[in-house]
Amino acid sequence: MLKNQAAFLIGQQVLEIRECEMPVVSDTDVLIEVRHIGICGSDMHIFEDPYHAVKDIQLPVILGHECAGRVEAVGKKVTGLAPGDLVALEPGVPCGVCEYCRSGRYNLCPDVRFLGARPWLGGAFSKYVCHPAKWTYKLPDTMDTIEGALIEPLAVGMHAANRSGIKLGQNALILGAGCIGLMTLEACLARGVQKITIADLHSNRLTMAEKIGAENTICSSREDLISRGMEITDRNGFDVIFESSGSKAVAALAPALVKRGGKIVMVGNIFGETPFNFFQTNAKEIDIIGVFRYCNLFPTAIDLCRRKQVDTKPIVTNYFHFSEIQNALEYAINQKQAAIKTVINM
Ligand SMILES: [Zn+2]
Ligand SMILES: [Zn+2]
Repeated sequence: MLKNQAAFLIGQQVLEIRECEMPVVSDTDVLIEVRHIGICGSDMHIFEDPYHAVKDIQLPVILGHECAGRVEAVGKKVTGLAPGDLVALEPGVPCGVCEYCRSGRYNLCPDVRFLGARPWLGGAFSKYVCHPAKWTYKLPDTMDTIEGALIEPLAVGMHAANRSGIKLGQNALILGAGCIGLMTLEACLARGVQKITIADLHSNRLTMAEKIGAENTICSSREDLISRGMEITDRNGFDVIFESSGSKAVAALAPALVKRGGKIVMVGNIFGETPFNFFQTNAKEIDIIGVFRYCNLFPTAIDLCRRKQVDTKPIVTNYFHFSEIQNALEYAINQKQAAIKTVINM
C-alpha cells in the first residue's frame, strides 16, 4: 500500500509533515508521485501570515502549486498518459462552462480549483497528488521534473509577454529580477525581443539576468532608476514596462519610465494600494494591463523548453529535501537576495 504524506501549514510560519490519506483517483484523474515543487511568492506570503494573507482561512492547509512528478496510476478513462510518464501539472482546474472558460480565458474562471489555494482541495507539498488528466502534461524524454516544476512560473512570464504584445525592435524594462521577472525576460527573448533592460536592488539577480540575455541592467540600490532608464532610451522611455517587483515604491515609478503611447504590464502581485500617477499615464496615453496567472500556455511552455528556446533551470538557486520544507520556506523568505528560486526535492 502506498502511503501519503503532506506538509500542512498548521499555524503562522509553522509547517508539519503528517501522514495523510491517499487521494481518491476518479476515472478521468491521474495519480502523481510528486518529484519537484517550486516555492512561489504566493506560498511565502501565505506561510508568513496566513490569517492576513487569506481572508477566513481555516488551518491546516497544504500549499504548493508549481510541481512535476511521475505518473503512478491513471483512471479507467484516461488515454495518452501511463504509469512511469514524467508530467507537469497545470494547477488550476477551471469549471469549463462559464463565460470565461468558454471564451478561452479560463484563468478568469470564478470557480477554478487551484492547487495550494482556495478552496484548498489539496496542495503540491505532498508525496502524492491526484489531478485531472486533462490538466496533466507529459514531459518530453529530454526534460526532467525540475524543468517540469518551472513550467508554471514560465507560463506566467509568457502570459505577461503575450498580454503586452511586445514586438521586434521595441524595448522593455522589467522591474524586479526575481523568478517571475526572469521568466518574463526569457519569454520576451523567446519572442525575439532583444532590447531588454532589467532592474533590481540585488546585483546577484542582475548577474543572472545578464547571463540569460538582458541587454542592460540597473542596480537600483546604487543607481537612480529613472535617470538610468532615460539614459538607456535616449530620454524616450520604454515601450513596455513589466512590473514584477511586487513593490509599491517601484511600481509607482512606472509612469515616469514608460514611453508615450507605451504599456505598463502589472505582472507581480502587489498587496494593498499603490500610489499611481494616472495624470502622467493619461498624458502619455498609456495602456495598463493586468496579468492573472496564464491560460492555454502549458503545451507551448513545455515545447519552448524542449527546443531549448528558454533555459529555466539556472534560475533555481536552492534545493531542499521535503523533510526540510520548514527551513526551505524560511530560507526563501529571509534570504531573498540569494534565493531566486527555491525548489523542494521529494
Ligand atoms: Zn506560482
Ligand atoms: Zn469557468
